Amino acid sequence: MQIDILTLFPEMFEGPFSQSILKRAKEKGIVQIFLHNIRDYASGKHKNVDDYAFGGGAGMVMMIEPVAKCIEKLKEKTVYDEIIYMSPDGELLSQKVANRISVMKNIILLCGHYKGVDERIREHLITREISIGDYVLSGGELAAAVLTDAVVRLMPGVLNDETSALSDSFQDDLISPPVYTRPAEFRGWKVPDVLLSGNEKEIVKWKHEQSLERTRQRRPGLMDDAGF
Ligand code: SAH
Repeated sequence: MQIDILTLFPEMFEGPFSQSILKRAKEKGIVQIFLHNIRDYASGKHKNVDDYAFGGGAGMVMMIEPVAKCIEKLKEKTVYDEIIYMSPDGELLSQKVANRISVMKNIILLCGHYKGVDERIREHLITREISIGDYVLSGGELAAAVLTDAVVRLMPGVLNDETSALSDSFQDDLISPPVYTRPAEFRGWKVPDVLLSGNEKEIVKWKHEQSLERTRQRRPGLMDDAGF
């Protein structure tokens, strides 16, 4: 998969993309991530990328021209499945959305900043809008990093068996069961006996029961959606 990220702050991605699973996925060639600085597409002496809002009001608005030029240049070389604007009023990111995006070939992620982007960008250049939750961030960069992480870890070959995405929460409309590791007892706090029993059948049954119980307690809506 190729992910082209359009941003005014490319350095914000350095940390999340150079560690752990995303780093490995890039090294293995499973995902290619290109960062594009929107400022490189700005014209004029000052390379302005934002301007005052028509009609007044606080906050600057990202201008259409640099974003349009950047997207058009990318589209000359690549056909995109989706051109996604990270936006607090977009479709809510969920495991289902991440699953669907993970099978795409090429996507663009546009990160807004300040008051957001000129509405005409959304009307004419964007094919989809995704929010990572009902709260407002300073910019789309952290949201794009979250979406990238959620999507890339689903791609075949990124995770190994021990970290398989299939056993994660939400993947089967259930929350994961609790997990434990050594020592079996710490300050008198014990790991459930069944996990130490070696009885594979009982362990599978216990895990499933725990998943159901947790989902019922913490995310009952998931069960309704899945028809449990
Ligand atoms: N004025 C806008 C918020 C702008 S926040 C409004 O009220 O809707 C600046 C930028 O941060 C946005 O353009 C968007 O790209 C990004 N952003 C903020 N919150 C986000 C969220 N919850 N999910 C995805 N992107 C978000």
